[in-house]
Amino acid sequence: MTEFGAEIYARLDRLAEISAEPGRLTRLFATQEQARASDCVMEWMRAAGMSARVDAIGNVIGRYEGTSPGLPALMLGSHLDTVRDAGRYDGMLGVVSAIACVDELNRHQQRLPFAIEIVGFSDEEGARFGAALLGSRAMAGTFDPVVLDCRDASGITMREAMARAGLDPTGIASASRKRDELLAYVELHIEQGPVLESKSLPVGCVTSINGATRLKVTLIGQAGHAGTVPMADRRDALAGSAEAILAVESLCAERPDLVGTVGMIEARPGVARWLAAWQARPTWATAVTAWAPEPAVAMLRSHGAEVWPEVERLAGARGA
Ligand SMILES: [Zn+2]
Repeated sequence: MTEFGAEIYARLDRLAEISAEPGRLTRLFATQEQARASDCVMEWMRAAGMSARVDAIGNVIGRYEGTSPGLPALMLGSHLDTVRDAGRYDGMLGVVSAIACVDELNRHQQRLPFAIEIVGFSDEEGARFGAALLGSRAMAGTFDPVVLDCRDASGITMREAMARAGLDPTGIASASRKRDELLAYVELHIEQGPVLESKSLPVGCVTSINGATRLKVTLIGQAGHAGTVPMADRRDALAGSAEAILAVESLCAERPDLVGTVGMIEARPGVARWLAAWQARPTWATAVTAWAPEPAVAMLRSHGAEVWPEVERLAGARGA
């Protein structure tokens, strides 16, 4: 490995140590760990000849001026937050490798005819509040203040958490960037799938990006005793959910460029002898994802919408 690569790996290892959970990498939005990671990244940015700051939503932004100050910037970067028990290359690689590139320019005292900005987005994953892409939304000027009332697992609102972390929930608009300040955005990211490796390709170029539609479905059946309610009289919401899950799978299997996942299910009351299935209220999250370049949004809408009549049909057949 080159010195360049070794330094990138060493920095990724250092960032991976900044975690809320020992032995696992978990770094969520508006936490102490996030602040520590931001400090660490800003230190590297400054050492690479950049100015560095944190904006109102917690994005870390480094800037390397071009041949004259104030030129529009090529933006590089990725996210610095993680999911729970994350991999150490997801997100961080895009930030750390970009800093290494600027460091190299700086070492050779090279200035380009444009500025370079490196951004470490404060939230991409949405792992804490269930609302994702907070950092990039704020930067794009599309942050919806409604999400400030979302609560994390311990009941803290995003607004409170941001204030406690020294961020500015009332000043999020100040994080938005004007179109003419930026030339383009380029992100290096690990492939979160098996395709490149299976084809022995070191790198791929993204031609379209994954979008998601998420549905949350509650099916309400009727509770009853597992031993005494005859099969013909059951309104079994859990069994109905199983059918609906399979319907999503086959709907997506029929269409190239579309994937679908049911990632969560909850059965209530959840007692084996009290026919858990009888009063099941499964929480059903589905992400239907399209890879089609341009009709992707329409495609997502139509396939997301296609799921509903199928669920209603299955539920109706069971009286749920
Ligand atoms: Zn990522």
